[in-house]
Amino acid sequence: MSFNRPDIIRPPSERKSYFLPLTSGCSNNTCTFCGYYGSKLQVRDVDDVKTEIDAIALFTGRGIPLPNVSHVVYAVAQGWDGKRIFLQDGDALVYPFPKLRDVLQYLNEKLPGIERIGTYATPQDILRRNSDELKELKKLKLSIFYTGLETGDDELLQKIGKGVSSNQVIEAGKKVKEAKITFSVTVILGIGGVEGSEKHALKTAKVLTKLDPDYVGALTLTIVPGTPFYEQWEWNEFHPISPFQSLAELRLIIENSNFTDCFFSSMHASNYLSVRGKLPQDRDRMLKEIEKVLAAGDPSLLRPELLRGL
Ligand code: SF4
Repeated sequence: MSFNRPDIIRPPSERKSYFLPLTSGCSNNTCTFCGYYGSKLQVRDVDDVKTEIDAIALFTGRGIPLPNVSHVVYAVAQGWDGKRIFLQDGDALVYPFPKLRDVLQYLNEKLPGIERIGTYATPQDILRRNSDELKELKKLKLSIFYTGLETGDDELLQKIGKGVSSNQVIEAGKKVKEAKITFSVTVILGIGGVEGSEKHALKTAKVLTKLDPDYVGALTLTIVPGTPFYEQWEWNEFHPISPFQSLAELRLIIENSNFTDCFFSSMHASNYLSVRGKLPQDRDRMLKEIEKVLAAGDPSLLRPELLRGL
């Protein structure tokens, strides 16, 4: 079966990257809120990946397009900064280790100017790799993992089908830090609904403190049609929080987490308010920004619903 190139779904900080698919879908397709729910994992052939790397190298180096290579490759290459590669798809770290090493070696050989390679990595993918393997990946410039914690509330983790406990995420985080791979963690405001809001925020702050990652990205829950979450919402079994309640969650998380040196951001397009800064240094300023909007209670200070993105 031929490989179906996935749509580009990426972290905000990877906007200038070249998007190189190794897989399509997600191996952990059970998260009830996620567009990858029920997706079929496809693993791309290494030779196919290498052909694409050859095409990028030739095109960016000498402006020559290779025949029989998808026009998408050149469209993506045109917006590329030449420095960063993002491996697709939902959890590209699931790509079998020998193949992943082979692809990374080839990337380094053909595109020696690249500075950083990044990927989404589930805690399960990370735990499957041993420390030496992770260190080897880091040497080959795979130096940032984006991992979804979503919530630190174990009951909720189970309910949303993440397939891991908070302790397993913490264990995975330790391995990432030990390998000196930059660790970027996302949490989802509103994932606990109205009833679980406070518990979700407090438990998330607790787990984030234990993880002490380099980056935290807060997203706000968007209920995606076709997911079990959507059905629960339609059946009135899930009660979403209001935009202002999402700010209250954000405030609770920032107030109750402790980091050594973390860049915390709610700049993602799904959020109603963007705040960002270094924690702990910018905590007071960030909390004041949230407080000001909460106190005003003026919806015009929030990102309009129409402009929110996934
Ligand atoms: S592991 Fe991540 S990409 Fe995969 S289904 Fe869950 S949230 Fe979606």
